[in-house]
Amino acid sequence: MQAFRYSQARSVDGALRAGGTADTSFLAGGTTLIDLMKLDVMTPQTVVDINALPLDQVEAATGGGVRIGAMVKNSDLANHALIRQKYAVLSEALLSGASPQLRNMATTGGNLLQRTRCYYFRDVNYACNKRDPGSGCAALDGYNRIHAVLGGSDHCVAVHPSDMAVAMMALEATVHTSSPKGGRALALNEFYLVPRDTPQKENVLEPGELITHVTLPAMAEGTRSFYIKLRDRAQYEFALASVAAVVRVNGKHIERARLALGGVATKPWRSMEAERALEGKTANRETFERAADAAMAGAKPLQYNGFKVELGKMAVVRALESVTA
Ligand code: SF4
Repeated sequence: MQAFRYSQARSVDGALRAGGTADTSFLAGGTTLIDLMKLDVMTPQTVVDINALPLDQVEAATGGGVRIGAMVKNSDLANHALIRQKYAVLSEALLSGASPQLRNMATTGGNLLQRTRCYYFRDVNYACNKRDPGSGCAALDGYNRIHAVLGGSDHCVAVHPSDMAVAMMALEATVHTSSPKGGRALALNEFYLVPRDTPQKENVLEPGELITHVTLPAMAEGTRSFYIKLRDRAQYEFALASVAAVVRVNGKHIERARLALGGVATKPWRSMEAERALEGKTANRETFERAADAAMAGAKPLQYNGFKVELGKMAVVRALESVTA
């Protein structure tokens, strides 16, 4: 691990004053940052500890939504009564991730920003455009079984690892930030970037911009939600394919559908194609299979990850069968 300057912030303004440069990292739960610093994958000159910031509340918002502080721990969020009752998909996604110990440390803001599990990214002996822009991508001709079939480029095919962000994508979350320039509210669907030729740039945050909280809109009466995660082992494993489904059905008629996929794409992947294939249709296996085909229609499998196309479709169908049952 390389030497770095360390400071603790007591307020959002203090964090912004201390963290205004590109070589500064904010330290929340540390479950990604510390690992990657030990591996010399991330080498910030300055680390600003934000654990003392008063951003650890989950609150009902006026109008029926919810406001989630950036420092709320994953375990607290998953077990919060409001989340369990109204946003089951989020609770299920959080509880499917990592281990209890990690969920007790990891935060909402940090989870949104967690880095890929691509093993070439995490090993400085391999070429990686995300870690070292312009160096190449060892995964393209390497062992790319865990990599993306959606949203990739000739420069990077790494999967975004978050479960929480997939659920938030289907819930149409908004990310709120502060920076020395002021505050921003960013729709989560516009927060993440696909790699194109700049895979080192994973989201629209500017250097020194801090996530303060996330808001979720109210869930309309009769809306149900569900998260399914398919992986190599039942616990403590990242998704090979996952689906968050938020659906309102009237009788057999699908009135509204929001669908997002994880484990198959370079960012938490909302599928508006699948949503269009569902809304206004009858809730049955045939409709679900059409939505699954639509969700994976743009897939570009690599040498070792072709199975993810079928797995993604199966996950879509299973999620829809469960949420409409
Ligand atoms: Fe790096 Fe992306 Fe290639 Fe993995 S897939 S080696 S993260 S450039």
